[in-house]
Amino acid sequence: MGFRNIQAKTLLTRMRHPDGWFGATDNINLYRGCQHRCIYCDTRSECYQVDTFDEEILVKANAVELLRSELAARRKKGIVSTGSMNDPYMPLEAELRLTRRTLATIAEAGWGVHITTKSALVLRDVDLLQVIGPERASVLMTVTTADDALGRMLEPYASSVSERFAALAELAQQGITTGLALMPVLPFIEDDAANIQGIIERAAECGVHYLACGFGVTLRDRQRAYYYRELERSFPGLSARYRESFGNAYYCASPRTAELQRLANALCRRYHISEDFCREPSSEPRQLNLFQALPR
Ligand code: SF4
Repeated sequence: MGFRNIQAKTLLTRMRHPDGWFGATDNINLYRGCQHRCIYCDTRSECYQVDTFDEEILVKANAVELLRSELAARRKKGIVSTGSMNDPYMPLEAELRLTRRTLATIAEAGWGVHITTKSALVLRDVDLLQVIGPERASVLMTVTTADDALGRMLEPYASSVSERFAALAELAQQGITTGLALMPVLPFIEDDAANIQGIIERAAECGVHYLACGFGVTLRDRQRAYYYRELERSFPGLSARYRESFGNAYYCASPRTAELQRLANALCRRYHISEDFCREPSSEPRQLNLFQALPR
């Protein structure tokens, strides 16, 4: 997949409500499009207007300069979140180092960062995360299946599931706060107890501090069309089962949600993994709509 440089007008987007889980106050996207090409990716939805999602990556070439001036203009420091619309550690980042240069800018400005990724490339930047500081830098790794082969099918160009777990273990060992995003959990594919248990037990072995889970997937317009096409290639007949079960619903919840949620809660208690992560202990815990707040 090729890439093209573009000039962004602005970078930092202030969150209307600071994120009560991760403490993020602002969001940035350094790229448009994502090389990982997960078959369920929500960024394909028409509302995001990333029309070249599966064709080319647009690189915000002036991101570092923009961010430096936007951070300097803020009176109060906060926490920048990245990774909601694309993966800041997609393969191209190894060459361009845009995320790395952005982290250096965040460190210089004395801000915090919250990164969502499916890539072991994040390990390259441990030095900068350490400068930002363990209490102000966190990495949320998305893992939806414990099985490498299934992961390759669903998230074809992301790091393998084993590589993601190894990265989590290394990050935790280096003193970085780590979380695991167990979402989406695809109905009829990933929503079995063995999968959920396998993921959470491996997360515990890796010293993961917190878990964010959601048992279902959101689907709309061209994202749904792409997902169903890909399902038919790997699981013939399954898209018909989705149509029957969910029609045109935006949120397609696993029929096993209650059972899986209980299992996740019990495992998190057993392994001392927080499900209520919050950077600021004084802030009120609040219920998040995880499917709006978390990575696709
Ligand atoms: S789900 Fe995340 S990692 Fe996968 S293609 Fe979309 S933005 Fe990239």
